[in-house]
Amino acid sequence: MSPRRLVELNDIGVDQLRHVGPKRRAALASIGIDTVFDLLTTYPRRYLDRTRRVDVADLAVGEEAAVWAQVVRVRSRRTRQGRSLVEVTVADEGGSLDVVFFNQPWRERQLAVGTWAMLYAKVADYRGRRQMTNPVVDVAVGAPDEGRDPTRVGRVVALYPASARAGVTSWELGGLVEESLRRAGEFLDPLPLEVREGLGLLDRTASLWGIHLPGDVADVEPARRRLAFDEFVRLQLVLALGRRHARAQARGVAHAVEPADVAVGPGELVDEGSSLLRRFLAGHPFALTRAQRRVLGEIAADMSADLPMHRLLQGDVGSGKTLVATAAIAVALAGGRQAVVMAPTEVLAEQHVNSLRRDFTRLDVVDERVLGGRRAIQVEVLTGRTRAPERRRILAGLADGSIDVVVGTHALLSDDVAFAALGIIVIDEQHRFGVEQRAVLREKGREHSREGRDPDVLVMTATPIPRTAAMVVFGDLDRSVLDEMPEGREPIATSWLDDEDECWRVVRDEVAAGHQAYVVCPLVEGSDAVEAASAVAEFERLAAGPLEGLRLGLLHGQMPGADKDEATRRFRDGDVDVLVATVVIEVGVDVANATVMVIEDAWRFGLAQLHQLRGRVGRGAARGRCLLLGSAPSEDAQARLEALVATTDGFEIAEIDLDQRGEGTLYGARQRGRSDLRLARLRADEDLLVAARDVATRLSERLEDVPELVEEVRFFVGDDEADFLFKS
Ligand code: ADP
Ligand code: MG
Repeated sequence: MSPRRLVELNDIGVDQLRHVGPKRRAALASIGIDTVFDLLTTYPRRYLDRTRRVDVADLAVGEEAAVWAQVVRVRSRRTRQGRSLVEVTVADEGGSLDVVFFNQPWRERQLAVGTWAMLYAKVADYRGRRQMTNPVVDVAVGAPDEGRDPTRVGRVVALYPASARAGVTSWELGGLVEESLRRAGEFLDPLPLEVREGLGLLDRTASLWGIHLPGDVADVEPARRRLAFDEFVRLQLVLALGRRHARAQARGVAHAVEPADVAVGPGELVDEGSSLLRRFLAGHPFALTRAQRRVLGEIAADMSADLPMHRLLQGDVGSGKTLVATAAIAVALAGGRQAVVMAPTEVLAEQHVNSLRRDFTRLDVVDERVLGGRRAIQVEVLTGRTRAPERRRILAGLADGSIDVVVGTHALLSDDVAFAALGIIVIDEQHRFGVEQRAVLREKGREHSREGRDPDVLVMTATPIPRTAAMVVFGDLDRSVLDEMPEGREPIATSWLDDEDECWRVVRDEVAAGHQAYVVCPLVEGSDAVEAASAVAEFERLAAGPLEGLRLGLLHGQMPGADKDEATRRFRDGDVDVLVATVVIEVGVDVANATVMVIEDAWRFGLAQLHQLRGRVGRGAARGRCLLLGSAPSEDAQARLEALVATTDGFEIAEIDLDQRGEGTLYGARQRGRSDLRLARLRADEDLLVAARDVATRLSERLEDVPELVEEVRFFVGDDEADFLFKS
């Protein structure tokens, strides 16, 4: 028999296996397993090492250990301090062990009497009995019946993601996988031998056996790495082909900018004839941070090249992205070209206009049509609220080139917006805009301006995205990071409080000291209307009780746009002490005097979102505080809140967030098609990801040599995308 191609196993239904009749087939289908391919790519969650099993009786105090045992007793109570405490006793044939969980009330449900579980922790001695505190728990659905299955004793047993609801046990899955492997025989390896050997990777057959049926626990990791590499290579091949398409079609603008221009500092003498960027930097009140200068250098290099720039600029709130973008705009304007700045809200658009007008006063651009050949830089704003005559004037100015910069919201995407010569597109807060919007704007540069070239694109985001995740999600964008804050900024102090009263005391103290506060209302499931109603109720509760006497404002997503802007403005102008709001404040409310933020039911928010939210305070000289309220109802929630208290580093937060949510969600966000990051870990496997990108880039030039790989990519991305990718 010739070696099997992996994807051909997708044509073999699970009912071809022994003991799988219609009922079993339906149960397996309900957890997404229809074919032998699905089975073989359902990987174990963990392994039980029965070659070196530890019996409860042998556990040594002071050592980390993992035991496999059954729950024989569980009860829950509160400690004198009011913390929740769940006490569990587990046992195997030889002995029993106490396990306690603090602040994890859900354990009582998870660990019902009779449940088998793996428990990992350090073993301690508590009043003469051995005890584990807050161990890592892995519950197995369905217990192994060792009496009837002696083959399972004394070897490594894979634990699969079983489903109690579907009635599919880990042991059953293990049996089916084993049968599939034995019957499949050899697998064809889609990777060229020299790639595999160069990276020291196992072949496919060995890796599938190693992940599912390891002889020793040490066999698992090399197998996992090989399979993870395959996942990365497929993904990176898609991205490499996409980049090649983009490049083949693009005609960019080579802006005139020299590397040395970026090094100019405030007060430096520059002559009249110097570039706009030089004059801008020399006239600016403060010097760029080192990170800003480095990033601006990267941008300038892109802009001076013939290919259009596609760059993602990342940096925490307050790291100074705006100034970098302004400098990039200066580069574009110097050559007589125009800039678009796209913001997610009207308030933010206004802020950008004000800061651009301020930064560009006293600077001028060349315009042959005016007397003297130079004129002041023209910056305008275009939103849904711009009135018709004003709008007509702005559209005319953009079309004839007398307006240099336009800042706006979605209104900029409208069909009748055209340019004389669009040089750069700046998009603020990327996560509000999709790839499509980027494309619409780029199209305007190419089709609706005299030049017919692709403008440069700079996307700014405060959402921390790890390098590895960016390589996956924003594979079409290069990336710059502002990893340094301007001087004099103190990190935000975050605490997690059970005590609501203490939290309102802090708010009152800050207001008494002349500062302002935000209260973020809980996320509410259901419609926006339900969430708004709950924010209104919370506003009324606070006004009548805990924050009585303070000047409260309200902001939620269901308010008409004009009311939202009004509420934001009143807070900005200091007419309101405390802004009670839903997450709508996440983007763009920028009030330096706000020093404290209370986040109610904080566990309901995602980690990255919480980090983003708290970035709204402490933007001025005074130190910011963030107070998280509410207890955590799950292990994950607890870890999120603890991480937030522990660090203010956005990238660390992002890594933890990624670890928690899993890499599969990333792929789903990027595109349709089969989720294909099951074993790959972006953080731990960064070396593999980098290697995969190189390999994929090389292989994309010689696809005819790797037909099986192409077949797999087709299979994973779906026919439509595949036809596009492989058409040339
Ligand atoms: P971001 O857009 O990244 O959230 P901003 O561009 O709004 O950050 O900058 C935050 C604040 O820091 C602004 O008040 C800005 O003027 C100031 N700032 C930016 N760069 C510098 C710098 N190099 N030195 C001092 N202050 C700076
Ligand atoms: Mg900003």
